[in-house]
Amino acid sequence: MHDLVIDNARIIDGLGTPARAGSLAVKDGRIAAIGNDLGAATHRVDAGGLVLAPGIIDIHTHYDAQLTWDPFATPSPALGVTTVVIGNCGFTIAPCRPPHRDLVIRNLTHVEGMALEALRAGIAWDFETYPEYLAALERRGVVPNVASFLGHSSLRTWVLGEEATRRTATETEIDLMRGLVREALRAGAIGFATSTLEQHNGENGVPMPSRLADEREMQALTGALGEAGRGVFMLTKGMTTTIPWLEQIAARTRRPVMIAAMFVDPGDPERVFRELHEIEAARSRGAELWAQVGCFPLGMEFTLRHPYPLEALFAWRPALEAGSEERYRRVLADREFRRAITRELGQPGVPNRFSEPHWDHLTIADVKHPEHRPLRGKTIGLLARESGREPVDCFLDLGLADDLDTLFECALFNTDEKKVSELLRHPHAAVALSDAGAHLSFLCDAGFGLHLFGHWVRERGDLSLEAAVRAVTSTVAAAYRIKDRGRLVPGAWADLILFDAKTVARGEKRRVNDLPTGASRLDTPAVGLHAVWVNGVRVVDERGPLRDCGRPGRVLREFTV
Ligand SMILES: [Zn+2]
Repeated sequence: MHDLVIDNARIIDGLGTPARAGSLAVKDGRIAAIGNDLGAATHRVDAGGLVLAPGIIDIHTHYDAQLTWDPFATPSPALGVTTVVIGNCGFTIAPCRPPHRDLVIRNLTHVEGMALEALRAGIAWDFETYPEYLAALERRGVVPNVASFLGHSSLRTWVLGEEATRRTATETEIDLMRGLVREALRAGAIGFATSTLEQHNGENGVPMPSRLADEREMQALTGALGEAGRGVFMLTKGMTTTIPWLEQIAARTRRPVMIAAMFVDPGDPERVFRELHEIEAARSRGAELWAQVGCFPLGMEFTLRHPYPLEALFAWRPALEAGSEERYRRVLADREFRRAITRELGQPGVPNRFSEPHWDHLTIADVKHPEHRPLRGKTIGLLARESGREPVDCFLDLGLADDLDTLFECALFNTDEKKVSELLRHPHAAVALSDAGAHLSFLCDAGFGLHLFGHWVRERGDLSLEAAVRAVTSTVAAAYRIKDRGRLVPGAWADLILFDAKTVARGEKRRVNDLPTGASRLDTPAVGLHAVWVNGVRVVDERGPLRDCGRPGRVLREFTV
């Protein structure tokens, strides 16, 4: 007798096989059979011809903190995600000694836009070491499956303390860190994650610890993956990190290297394709490099109180380092500061998140003071042309006059859909980059899989549904060595989603207040998603998450080689 049989489904197996009609049976959390007339079952679901596919695997999330108070990893399962990978970019909360907890929280608030009060009130600090963190996750239970990176920034802070953001490590410290990477891999880490990205700054603009690592440290810590013969090296790439350097790491360690974030940058739209060619060349020499790409245009809303998109500019540094609001206002008003910004943006090909020379990518989304209301919906570029002033002056003068509370919306990346389509279809691409769990106040891309099926398959026709499902299931499972998931075959775990291919999509943005202390986040409900099962247990129905589903997810600790 099966535990569950889903009849009358259009089965897409996640491996690229053409869809076929049939039934799927589940026993003890795993797929027992696929076919017709599968026999008796305790529960029976009539799929009514809807698509039954493997659950989506989201390899780029930041639920490290949230999972200590929210086992659901809200909202990912409600958007069809059955496995989340945490610890991306190296921003984990483990290992962490008690005296550094507040520092880690303040840095996360800055770098990943998480609400400070929510983190302070929400995080259950029932661990110090990395193995203890995994054990604590397991003890509390999780709704989706969770795999976790060991994060470079946390590791550095554990070993160097407050000095982690100030200096390179000594040989002894490097040896210690290298040993801890090996220990984490033994305990079940999926790999080692780091960031060299220029805008990854903590409080007061201090670079995140991983950015202080020198060549010896990088070689030693990635070397630990090679010694262990397991684990993925995940890196969020800054401008100084080259593909040949990453190839050398992949070749030396014989481990996969996942490179984030590969966007189409309007300031240099061909760069990502040049890098993809370098990745192809590296592949042909046997180095397993993966390009992590996203299927959303990346935009951000921000105010001058936390202008994340500008913080990659060298010329912005005086503002980052101002310290007090009064000094910050003085910096923003300074003519020389403004000239330096304009100068930096004018350099051709300066790759950063703010490189559109006409400022037409920056829209005034909302204002605080009524007298500025007529400006709503205009771009800074338009405002500059209308008034004959410099864009940087229009931008900063408005922000200052509006008490730093003007809400700007900035289109940063992936605005050219034809080019994005090429990225999504690239054989060495891993479709992800949801950043779920981070930047909650202005971003919710956790529904990237549903958007892929709705927008890129149904609306644009760039991919077949079978290829799109494969991209967010078996392809990423293979890259990350995740066992028996991301595919519908007998013996695999029953991580399943049931959806209507005619309507599936990510819904309209809405604001909800369900974070600790009532802090708000942006949410996008699913459209056309009828059910989600994790390890054979239904966790979502047509109306959304089933709060009484238990905690059927697993902390994944064993991976294929
Ligand atoms: Zn990230």
